[in-house]
Amino acid sequence: MRMLYLLIFLCVNSMSFAHAKTFDEEFEAFKKTASAQALYTFLYAMPKGGDLHNHSTGSNLSEWWYAEILAQQEKGYRYYTKVKINNCRAYGSNEFTQAPYLLLFVNIQAYEYEKLDSCEQSEYVGIQDLNPEQKKAWLNSIRLDKSSEGRDEFFQTHWARINSLMSNPYMQANLIVKNMQAFGAEGLTYLETDAGVRGFVHPDGSPFDSEEVYQIYLERFAQKDALATGVTVRLQYALVRFITQAEDALKWMYGFVASHPELYVGVDMVGREDNDKGHPLRFLPTLRALRHQYHGVNLSIHAGESDEPNHHIRDTLLLGATRIGHGLNLTGDPDTLLLMRYSQYLIEINLISNLLLEYVDDYTQHPFPEYLRLGIPVALSTDDRGMWDSNMTDEYYTGVTNFNLSWSELVKTGANSLAHAFVDEKTKQQLLDDYKQRIAAFEKAFSDKKMAAFEKVKPESYSFACKQFKVCH
Ligand SMILES: [Zn+2]
Repeated sequence: MRMLYLLIFLCVNSMSFAHAKTFDEEFEAFKKTASAQALYTFLYAMPKGGDLHNHSTGSNLSEWWYAEILAQQEKGYRYYTKVKINNCRAYGSNEFTQAPYLLLFVNIQAYEYEKLDSCEQSEYVGIQDLNPEQKKAWLNSIRLDKSSEGRDEFFQTHWARINSLMSNPYMQANLIVKNMQAFGAEGLTYLETDAGVRGFVHPDGSPFDSEEVYQIYLERFAQKDALATGVTVRLQYALVRFITQAEDALKWMYGFVASHPELYVGVDMVGREDNDKGHPLRFLPTLRALRHQYHGVNLSIHAGESDEPNHHIRDTLLLGATRIGHGLNLTGDPDTLLLMRYSQYLIEINLISNLLLEYVDDYTQHPFPEYLRLGIPVALSTDDRGMWDSNMTDEYYTGVTNFNLSWSELVKTGANSLAHAFVDEKTKQQLLDDYKQRIAAFEKAFSDKKMAAFEKVKPESYSFACKQFKVCH
């Protein structure tokens, strides 16, 4: 009789085991029936790893800039923006400088405003004094909000407009913390963004010493509200690749990164790749010489963000990069594609950026699923999300809805974003262990309670999600 009970027990137990769904199966079932809002909430709530491809200036939402500009009056900074053009300059002004004359919503600091003649002063308004219509236009002037705006608007006017907003180190540090807060709320625990220490000025225009700026970052990121985000932050130094003195700048920043490892972990190269002066091999001799002198400087470099097939990704690996930003044209270079399968080289994928900057017309053209399913390490990242008015959840949502990502693929992508972080090994291991635990807890919570598990989750989303997914808040 006892034998019979044992048999029944074993039988029932093995039956229940056979019917237990894996979380992958649960996720597939959920995807089939979930509303856009439910899927968005699920993806917002799910633990994510890090954002490895993030530009601190481009990651600030317009509303964050506005609030921070007003707050900076306390430190003596006042900003003006150009709201009209009164033809104050004669024919022939240089329209290809950092802040061209014939461009609206160029932002300047008060000390620059005071140097203008009265005609040009009349073109500007203090940002705190913008009327509602001007304010709305100002907010829209630094995001891609119209169908006519794409790559040229982004590269040629957005940065020119931001202009002097980039040279206040307190504002820069506060806005990185703002990003940490927003990323923390959507389940990220790591942010690697680029931010420099040169070119910063006081309210009167006098320059900061680079060590002073470094201290401002260190102190700001150690404050309570920054620590409370649960997001570990590290910085990269970005080189604009096509400038005349790029080699000298690279030498300086390489040395700076090597000697400030507490916060700085790598060097990046940015700027249009279709500018011939910025091609990767230009920097090979310089980087080889720098490697004779320094250790511990990681390279994550934009490559293959290009419409034409070329060997920029191969050449960038030759420079010593272990992470490739974008890597869009890799399918046009099969030898390098094969080299990257099951490799240590990660591609930082920026789905929204690539669409809005017209590197793909739609997602049927995007190589992300090809890379992912061929075993090339990939992670999703946000690039200049302030200008897209989006967040990391939008990248996940885009991936799931366009490429039918499985749960395992999502989790692997998140883990990759930590495994390939440039942070020290000990911290990286802690982040990975924590990620594993948070994923397990998330799976259990959803298995037990379904969407009721996320009753308290209120996703913060912006105009990209509203326009593209009809998920509006
Ligand atoms: Zn980028």
